[in-house]
This record gives sequence, structure tokens and C-alpha cells, in this order.
Amino acid sequence: MRVSIIGGGVVGCSIAFELQRLGFEASVLEKNGAVGHGSTSASCGIVRRFYSQPDMVAMANEGAHIWADWEKFVGPIEDEKIVFHRPGMLFIPPHIDDEVSRIVAGMQQMGIAASILTADQVAQRFPFLETDSFFPPRQPDDDAFFEPTGRRIEGAVFEEDAGYVVSPDLATQNLRSAAEREGARFLLRREVSAIRKVGTGPFRVVTAQGDSIESEVVVNAAGPHSSIVNRMAGVALPLEIRPLRREVHTLDNPLFSKQEESALPVVGDLDSGVYCRPESRGRNLVVGSTDPHCDQLEWVDDPDDFNESVTEPYWERQCLRLMKRFSQVRLGPKRGVSALYDVTVADWYPVVDRTDLPGYYVCIGTSGSSFKTAPVLGLMMANLIESCQNGHDPDQQPYQLTLPYTGATVDMAFLSRRRSQLQSTGTVIG
Ligand SMILES: Cc1cc2nc3c(=O)[nH]c(=O)nc-3n(C[C@H](O)[C@H](O)[C@H](O)COP(=O)(O)OP(=O)(O)OC[C@H]3O[C@@H](n4cnc5c(N)ncnc54)[C@H](O)[C@@H]3O)c2cc1C
Repeated sequence: MRVSIIGGGVVGCSIAFELQRLGFEASVLEKNGAVGHGSTSASCGIVRRFYSQPDMVAMANEGAHIWADWEKFVGPIEDEKIVFHRPGMLFIPPHIDDEVSRIVAGMQQMGIAASILTADQVAQRFPFLETDSFFPPRQPDDDAFFEPTGRRIEGAVFEEDAGYVVSPDLATQNLRSAAEREGARFLLRREVSAIRKVGTGPFRVVTAQGDSIESEVVVNAAGPHSSIVNRMAGVALPLEIRPLRREVHTLDNPLFSKQEESALPVVGDLDSGVYCRPESRGRNLVVGSTDPHCDQLEWVDDPDDFNESVTEPYWERQCLRLMKRFSQVRLGPKRGVSALYDVTVADWYPVVDRTDLPGYYVCIGTSGSSFKTAPVLGLMMANLIESCQNGHDPDQQPYQLTLPYTGATVDMAFLSRRRSQLQSTGTVIG
């Protein structure tokens, strides 16, 4: 059976690889000249498992096993392969409450090496990090921004073997090569401009370059362009999905060349409103936002028309917040990237489902945190397509997928288009 996948990001390439392994004929249509050059290219590639939803913890855990076993997972390909560094991740929530304890207990039950550290243990293990609490995060022009709160953090969650994948675009290229080896076709510089279907006949996916590709199945994996592609297919989902502008900045790592760089974990700091991780073999740090309430979210109407520059206010507030936690960091030149998330507005979890248009599927709304799970999303989408095309209706009976590495079973209803709002942080933390 022929499948057209719209979008050659990490998600589309992963879906193509898994569909080929199930015996489908996958064609990926990508408007750029290479795969992985959409929002995937800006990704920080952080691989952690701390999520509000237990099924997402299971998916992220499966993802971590896949990244750790990458050579075997993608099989024989000639490309250079990705590197997965695992310095651990320190997650600093505003409070160590019942919810945090519940998530950590669930992680431990899945065999994930995660534990709650006290503020003293954080100070002992990571002496370069301040253990004052800065919650709630503020804007730098707020008079109280630099005022001490007089409180310490309540503690932190440490995930021993969390980490990050160097070069998300290389990971995507690896997936493309693996998919091609299995027989997938990649049609680059093809911008899909229309999706047509007459009666029960096949889809015709039309490109701006004049192609018309016929297939029984179409998958929307267009990242921040997902809503535009849904409109081409005439599909409206009950959940709103929108592009959101982000900036990620680069700073010098003060620990580099102090023999301490291996001690720097990934830090997810909801207490001060930023996350960071080492970059460039420890020479730099990248810093991004955890979406604190005081920051206005920058929703974008047209993903082809947004400010792609690094802006002074965003850069300043993000770097200053990091400097409160990590006081040895110094402001340097304004460096970084501006990119888009594709956000499911209600709960910041992806939508992986069939739609009301038979044969048309979506793997979208990845909400700024689906690089780590992209290989799992590919597996889910491919298996769901196989099941639905064989007559199964997941709206009646949700699809249960057993994950090959960890053996966990995920009920895919939690990622369905018809779900009610999931309990989540409503931010990139999920
Ligand atoms: C700044 C930033 C930091 C992030 N950090 C992390 C992180 O640390 N950890 C994590 O797990 N996740 C992270 N993410 C999220 C993760 O990178 C994304 O969820 C993931 O890359 C989305 O992949 P995708 O394939 O769905 O989208 P994309 O990579 O955007 O791919 C979609 C592709 O579709 C193509 N396309 C669109 N419209 C058309 C059309 N009409 N015709 C043909 N092609 C089309 C685009 O060109 C693009 O290549 C981050 C994201 C960003 C932006």
C-alpha cells in the first residue's frame, strides 16, 4: 500500500522507516533540499523522561533506549552517526509536591534511575548551581527580578542517564538513510500545495513543482505547517494546533577547561524559567525557556512569515535567568536561533491519530518536546496505519502498542484527536 508522508523532519523520516519495515511503500515529500532542516534543525535534542502523563514517560523511556542503541536501531547505513551524551538531568520544579513524587515513583517503577534530591544534595553534587529559589520567574524589568526571595529550592529531581543527542538533523539523515535502504522514496524540494481525493479512490498529493503523487494513505508530518496541510485536506481537528515562536541562545560554558565540564548536567529549571545543556563538546551552553506565566507566548499566524532573528529582550531575559541559577555564566555576544514549535494549545501533547477523512492521518502538535520520542512516534503511526487500514477503528477501541525495547504497553487514546484536555504543565515540560 502506498503512503505519502508530508514533511521530512525527524517525525516524517521515522514514520517512513517504520512503514517500510511493515511492508508499505512510503514516499516522503519535503519542501526543503534536505531532510531535518525544518524545526528539527533547531532542536536541543534533550532526552529526558520526566512528564506528567505516565504513557509519555513510557514513550520517552523507549526513546532513550533507542537513542542509546542507535547503530543497531537504524541498521547498516554509511552516514556518520549521532552521538548521545548522557550527563544526567537535574529538574528543578517550583515545589516538590505530591505530583512530582507521583511522577518520580512512576519513573522508578519503570526502572528509570530517577530520585528526588534535597537542596543540600543539589549543592553538594553541583556546587556551581545556586540553590536559592527564584520562583515565580519574572521579567528582567520587574523591580523584584534581582531581589533575593529568602527561600531555597525545595529540592530537585535527578535523572541519572538523561542527556542529549548531538545534531538532530544528523539523526534525521540517519533515519532517511535507513528508510531508503528499506525502499522508501524521498522527494526533496517538493512543496505540497493540494491534497485531492475523489470518492473512494486514492489521494492525489499535488506539489507546487507540478508533481501529482497517488497514494492510498496520506500522513501529515509537516511540523509547524501541520494546520496548513490539514486545511489542504479539508480536515478540521477538535484540538487547536498552532505554531509558536521560540528562541534558544548560546553562551560560553564557564566550566569548560576547568575539568568540571563532565559534571554539568542538563538542567530543566521551572523555578527560574529556563532549561540549559552543554553544547560543542562542553565549550558552550544552550539555554531555552520553560514558558513561565510572566512571558507572553508568541503565537505565529503564518509559519512562513515570522521573525527569524534573535531579539534583544528574549536573549536578555533568558540569559539573565540562567545567570541567577548559574552565577559563573557571563553575557557574551548575542548568539542563538529562532524557530517554531507546533503546539497542541490545550495540553502540549502530540496528536497521533487517524482523522475523519479515511486514509488521512496526523502526527502533529509535537509541542517542542518530541525529538526524543520521534522514533517512537514513527512506530506508533506506522502500526496505527496498518491496523486502521485493516479495518480497526481506534475511535471505538483505542490502539494499544507494546514498545519493543522496554516492553511497556501504551494506550494510544491519550494522543487521539478526540481526547479531552490532558493533565499537563501546559508548557514544553508536558
Ligand atoms: C528550539 C527548539 C528546541 C527543541 N528542543 C527539544 C528538545 O530538547 N528535546 C525534544 O525532545 N524536542 C525538542 N524540540 C522539539 C522537536 O525538535 C520537534 O518536536 C521535532 O523536531 C518536530 O519534528 P517534525 O518532523 O514534526 O517537524 P519539522 O522538523 O518541522 O519537519 C516538518 C517538515 O515538513 C516540511 N513541510 C512543511 N510543509 C510542507 C509542505 N507543504 N510540503 C512539503 N514539506 C513541508 C518542512 O519543511 C519540515 O522539514 C525542540 C524544538 C525547537 C524548535
